Amino acid sequence: MVDLQTIVDEIAAEMAQATERGAVASYIPDLARIDPAHFGIAVIGHDGVSYAAGDADTAFSIQSVSKVFSLTMTLGAVGDALWRRVGREPSGSAFNSIVQLETEQGIPRNPFINAGAIVMCDILLGRYEPREAIAQFLRFVRALAGDDGIVIDHKVAGGEQETGFRNVALANYMRAFGNIQHAVDKVLGIYFHQCALAMNCRQLALAGRFLMNGGRNPATCRSVVSPQRARRILSLMMTCGHYDGSGEFAFRVGLPGKSGVGGGILAIVPGIASIAVWSPGLNERGNSQLGTLALERLVQRTGWSVFEPV
Ligand code: GLN
Repeated sequence: MVDLQTIVDEIAAEMAQATERGAVASYIPDLARIDPAHFGIAVIGHDGVSYAAGDADTAFSIQSVSKVFSLTMTLGAVGDALWRRVGREPSGSAFNSIVQLETEQGIPRNPFINAGAIVMCDILLGRYEPREAIAQFLRFVRALAGDDGIVIDHKVAGGEQETGFRNVALANYMRAFGNIQHAVDKVLGIYFHQCALAMNCRQLALAGRFLMNGGRNPATCRSVVSPQRARRILSLMMTCGHYDGSGEFAFRVGLPGKSGVGGGILAIVPGIASIAVWSPGLNERGNSQLGTLALERLVQRTGWSVFEPV
């Protein structure tokens, strides 16, 4: 039996020594100021036991990791009708790319690139007033993690609202194709607040538990999504969760994962564990440099993979 606490302690110690840490996202004002020396890891086993090391209790901006929760919530709201407005193919392009929207008539390739997540916010606006949509989203994530202390960092959201010109362009461009139906500032208001959710590794791993457990939260035994939907969300994480770095992540780590420019990654070992790592320095594709390395070492030492029986 592997001693998981020893493994995560060793990995945190190794990451503290790492020299190639990547660069923090500088285009979001509050993220540009984060110390790249941070590293945290939390693993929650199927039995609910948690193993954590490093800065596992320091909150960070989860950014695009939130797209896992917004996809879950949007599928809950409209079901498979989502797929009329968002595709399910890896984009092979940067997370904030606009190029494919022209050839694909304003339909984003998948829900995990910015354009896809923005369409999901538009869909939620068909159900809720803007403030209510943000409040529902926060309530949903708090319930998944079982932690009412999770908050949105309004300063991060405000900074993005002032500087998120590419997202404004994406939303307007899709509006021209009719795939955004509400006022762009309202749609993006939801998007920026969703990305500005502040969580630590422990909370993020807790929020991911339903995905390791066939759609059911193991702590409450309540079903969050059906087993089929959980499988589909995991498939999208595997194929699209790291944008144009998704193939590389699958090759190195072999688990479904979702990254964010805050440096967080949520990775799932079905039936076994929900894992969150955080290190703010990013590689050239906008995915956490040390977060990926830490996950690579974790799977090497545990044998965890979706491609091999454990
Ligand atoms: N809020 C960020 C943006 O829209 C999210 C991007 C990310 O985490 N990859 O640019």
